[in-house]
Amino acid sequence: MTKPPGCKAIIDSNFALACDRLGLDEELRSLLKTPHRELRVEVPVRMDDGKLKIFVAYRVQHSGVRGPHKGGIRYHPLVDYEEVLALAEAMTWKTAIANIPFGGAKGGINCDPKTMSPRELERLTRAFTARIHLILGPFRDVPAPDVNTNAQVMAWIMDEYSSRHGYTPACVTGKPVELGGSKGREAATGRGVLYAVQSLAREKNLTLDSARVAIQGFGNVGSHAARLLVEEAGCRIVGVSGSKGGVFNPEGLPVPELLKHTRESGSVTGFRDADGISNDELLALDCDILIPAALECVLTGQTAPSVRARFIVEAANLPTTPEADQIFAEQRIFVVPDVLASAGGVIVSYFEWAQNLQQIFWEEEEVNERLRKTMTRAYQEVSDLSQKEGVSMRLAAYMLAISRVAQAERLRGN
Ligand code: NAD
Repeated sequence: MTKPPGCKAIIDSNFALACDRLGLDEELRSLLKTPHRELRVEVPVRMDDGKLKIFVAYRVQHSGVRGPHKGGIRYHPLVDYEEVLALAEAMTWKTAIANIPFGGAKGGINCDPKTMSPRELERLTRAFTARIHLILGPFRDVPAPDVNTNAQVMAWIMDEYSSRHGYTPACVTGKPVELGGSKGREAATGRGVLYAVQSLAREKNLTLDSARVAIQGFGNVGSHAARLLVEEAGCRIVGVSGSKGGVFNPEGLPVPELLKHTRESGSVTGFRDADGISNDELLALDCDILIPAALECVLTGQTAPSVRARFIVEAANLPTTPEADQIFAEQRIFVVPDVLASAGGVIVSYFEWAQNLQQIFWEEEEVNERLRKTMTRAYQEVSDLSQKEGVSMRLAAYMLAISRVAQAERLRGN
């Protein structure tokens, strides 16, 4: 597998544009940009065939100035240091935009989880946790799920951490509800996307009932976003794709059946009553809202010119390159950026952490309502700044985040 270039270039460009606009000096820029701590570990795992395999893994703590470091752990064959670093920085800005008391971090293991057994994944997760537990903790760094990791992986991390430090549910979020996970966490990023879409619709007088939505990625984020956009906003999901390709139906795909098909076959492809399309065709579908919810760097100078959506709501992290942003600005395609639209997961992770620290639990309605308020407020603050400054939502979001983190640095005397 080859990796598309640009993940770090995307965040460097967004950061630089926002700092220029804010007039930040070089010293402050480098203080805000430089990660607090970076750890690379080599993780030996005995595989089911008896052979020892060594995996390379990372945890980057980008900023802890506004609260404990916070961010997901990804298992993917393309994970490398630069990607983890860029995603860790993105978390710093995301938590600041949501105005929740966390910094930013990210972790990743270079592995191919699709070729590994559940026992191998468990051994890998436990060995990784053993190597990094000293820098984790409820007031140091709190991981969460990301691509190819889930509540079960978080449970293994919690178990390993607790066996060394005593029972500590708040050391990780996105856990199973039975182990102190928050109700509503699993669907939270997708639900946050719904609230971002609803805020967008209010602002732009867009009718969501029957609005045509195309979604790239049908994993945790994409599938919950699809389901909720249909159930709670009346949208039509006209196209969906995954790593093996996509499906298209202009009348709208039946999301529960598509989910069942994906669970059974491992892919959205081959679904009945739909035409097969490629991933690039998905991005170019005639629709109202395009939601990238897979990996980074998918909307590029090559793919952006064919996008026909009026609005893009970024559920994935860093899906859009600066060249694509330029093209969208010229074509008047309105973009709700990742650091805002994908914040639902970390917001409910904050709720989970707060519940764990107090050992009290909220009902799902309360979680969802608090998420709705937090997402709606964040959207409004970014939108207000974007209008006041006459800049894109992305630039406004970065400006808001960078100002908040810079102010925290100043107040702490750095
Ligand atoms: P996931 O592993 O559950 O799903 C990933 C999806 O992307 C799958 O449907 C997969 O088939 C698809 N995919 C993989 N490679 C692809 C390719 N080359 N082309 C098209 N589709 C491809 O992961 P997830 O948790 O849903 O995360 C998706 C995105 O959302 C990532 O960018 C992640 O960083 C971001 N995100 C996740 C969370 C969370 O809470 N899980 C929170 C914020 C942001």
